[in-house]
Amino acid sequence: MAPADKAEGARPGEFRLIEEVFAPLASGAAGAFALKDDAALYRASTGWETVLTVDAIVAGVHFLPDDPPESVARKLLRVNLSDIAAKGAVPKGYLLVTAWADDTSFDWIKRFASGLAEDQERYGISLWGGDTVRTSGPLMLSLTAIGELPQGTLLARGGAHPGDDIYVSGTLGDAALGLEVLRAKLDDLSPEDRAQLVRRYREPEPRCSLGPRLRGVASASLDISDGLFADLGHLCGQSGAGARIEMDRLPLSDAARRAVEGQPELFQLIVGGGDDYEILFAAPPEKAGQVAAAAAEASVSVTRIGEVRETDEGVKLVDRAGQPIPLKQLGYRHF
Ligand SMILES: [Mg+2]
Repeated sequence: MAPADKAEGARPGEFRLIEEVFAPLASGAAGAFALKDDAALYRASTGWETVLTVDAIVAGVHFLPDDPPESVARKLLRVNLSDIAAKGAVPKGYLLVTAWADDTSFDWIKRFASGLAEDQERYGISLWGGDTVRTSGPLMLSLTAIGELPQGTLLARGGAHPGDDIYVSGTLGDAALGLEVLRAKLDDLSPEDRAQLVRRYREPEPRCSLGPRLRGVASASLDISDGLFADLGHLCGQSGAGARIEMDRLPLSDAARRAVEGQPELFQLIVGGGDDYEILFAAPPEKAGQVAAAAAEASVSVTRIGEVRETDEGVKLVDRAGQPIPLKQLGYRHF
């Protein structure tokens, strides 16, 4: 972490911040040299390939200024681990860039680092390096995650074929509904339901146990960040295929189900809200048993929600009778 600014202020200077707050996060990786060298050294396992992904988040745009710093840390890390998992890779380490705003307190930074420390334990990864600077603009954080998988096994977006089943992990729409709760909506839900939805918004659960088990099973895979239909569109676009999704099969949490029962128009958030960080993947029907085994071993629920079709059929949502439901009817605007 090359310090950009040595000045002491309300919080320690950048050297001390690195030494006291961030170097401990690098102690698990010998190649990080305690953040004291110019660069980190990383040796990929023999016969494995490296998968890289990066995300940046800005206060007031991607997270709310009063979100707990531990949650901001977890979300920043986990959205990247979600990409790693969706490609079938195992996370190994990460690089971090922090641009602290003038009003970012030392306490906020320490709590942010403690959120990272907890998740490092949880996912078996370490900080390998990065940079820390000041900004006169809003707080900005960027994280690059690095993962590994055996050569030639990456789960690309473009491998789905007509006839493949389409699956999704976990449940859909919780995070988008959680954001509604934070916007002071959905106040007819119980406090427990509201808290659960907010937690799903603030702290996605990357499916790190599932992704690697889908290598050699899934024909195409991605994680849902933009919403089911937007990301399904990406998968189909890259695969040169269409898709048919059965509305009744979409997996909802109890809290989301109660929210939608109260206000059916909220269903648009289930299919289009985004921030789900679930894995959406396709697999040939003959691999259904392997999909079920992977889900069981990973302790992650996986639901078959539809089928890959020919490209000229487009991407459709259908009801129980197989009749298309216009996405417009759901108030879905991005499609
Ligand atoms: Mg992604």
